[in-house]
Amino acid sequence: MTNDIQPFLSALRARVEPLEIEMSDAWWQANVSASEESEMRAGNAQKAITRLYADKAMFETLRGMDTSRFEADHVRQHYLLLNTVAGNQMEDAVIEELVDTERRVESAYNTYRPELLGQPTGENALRDILRVSDDSELRRKAWEASKEIGVHVEKDVLRLVEIRNQEARRLGYANYYQMSLRLQEQDEETLFALREEVTKRTESLWRSYKADLDTRLAARFKVTIDELQAWHYPDPFFQEAPTGETDFDAFYKNKNLETLTTNFFDAIGLDVRDILARSDLYERDNKCQHAFCITVGRYGDVRVLCNCNESERWMGTMLHEFGHAVYDKYIGEDLPFFLRGPSHTLTTEAVAMLMGRLSRNAAFLTRYVGVPAAEAQAVSAEGNAETAAQLLILVRWVAVMAHFERALYTDPTQNLNALWWTLVARYQNVRKPEGGNAPDWAAKLHLALAPVYYHNYLLGEMMASQLLDYLQEKTLPSGDDDYLVSSPAVGDYLRHQIFACGARLPWNALIESATGEPLNPTHFVRHLQKAAG
Ligand SMILES: [Zn+2]
Repeated sequence: MTNDIQPFLSALRARVEPLEIEMSDAWWQANVSASEESEMRAGNAQKAITRLYADKAMFETLRGMDTSRFEADHVRQHYLLLNTVAGNQMEDAVIEELVDTERRVESAYNTYRPELLGQPTGENALRDILRVSDDSELRRKAWEASKEIGVHVEKDVLRLVEIRNQEARRLGYANYYQMSLRLQEQDEETLFALREEVTKRTESLWRSYKADLDTRLAARFKVTIDELQAWHYPDPFFQEAPTGETDFDAFYKNKNLETLTTNFFDAIGLDVRDILARSDLYERDNKCQHAFCITVGRYGDVRVLCNCNESERWMGTMLHEFGHAVYDKYIGEDLPFFLRGPSHTLTTEAVAMLMGRLSRNAAFLTRYVGVPAAEAQAVSAEGNAETAAQLLILVRWVAVMAHFERALYTDPTQNLNALWWTLVARYQNVRKPEGGNAPDWAAKLHLALAPVYYHNYLLGEMMASQLLDYLQEKTLPSGDDDYLVSSPAVGDYLRHQIFACGARLPWNALIESATGEPLNPTHFVRHLQKAAG
């Protein structure tokens, strides 16, 4: 028994820090320039750090500590480390198989090109067809092609589920789903109740949005509403709202997104120049096609990956990723090593989402993009309605993912293909294609590679709405959006009330300290109702 954890923390930091830096840098390199060598380096670094936390003696030492006389920051570090170490208690052979299987699946998602009309076709091309084509037959083929990867990875994904479950049971949990939530300081019942509440409170908005959308789609594809199929929706999983009448991309033609990003963050008092200098922002061969922010080490080496073009989507993505980036950059300087990071995935998502919503905001368009105020005001109602549609779709889609994933870990031997479509029909109101019986669920990368994660996107949007209400009611001189997009008070608030706290507080305590109340879905529901008109 020991009452002083400081020597333990210092010794552990000396071992963890170089491995963390190697892992993040290797991962960054593998994403900006994929090669067998860079992927191997990333895999090895991941194994090294997992092995470090798999140490049984360390687990016992942490469990044996009497934390009752620790100071608050030590209690918190002890608790977080115990969770990390518990989640990594695996034999060497298990770590090898887990990491190798994950990498094999990841590589399959990145490289598989299904045939469409005799041509190997990438994900972006398939998405483009579902976005713009009016040809139902072509859409069906593109949609089916987008699901083919599921057949190829299904066995590996099920093996990952089996390994994760076996390790969770060894530690006394019913399954991996339950363990994973517990280790991220979340409780299954509370979480499902909260999500169901939001689903119910937005039910009538969803019904009218979906009915209206189906009417428009039926007219566009010249079918009856009853004949609408999964491939008539705008993307492979119906995760996104179709774009409306206004061409928001036109506002961003001939605009430099880096300059707009710098100007906006400057105005709210956060400097992103050093981050921009380290970032990799434009399309290139052998580069990851998506976007993310990563911090190498815990002392300000923040980098963003994007594939920018002059479009509203990439402006939103830049604002989103630089929202993550300023959170990491402005983590409190006084924080000890193991508290240097966001409180939770959902808190950094919330800040990113708050920023990402601005690319269609009238005040942002006027101040930064140079759209005349009257024109910006005129299109902002549609911009708001699109944002609302996006969030309504997210609520339903997260319900599918959460119910499916919980069931997947509870009983992976059940008829998963049928369950997937039952949930899609129930929550997204999209019907199962006639005669289909394929592992369509396995085409969703998160189930394999970012397990028990999806609900954090919804919680992040809920927190973003709560932050927005707080800023507009308590911090800014009026509800005027121009303050929101240009006042240093915004950066000041985020910096001192959120970023500076690092991981010192659990996520819900942080929300309460920053806004005066724990996570409250009412803000999110109200924004939806207001934006939907
Ligand atoms: Zn994000």
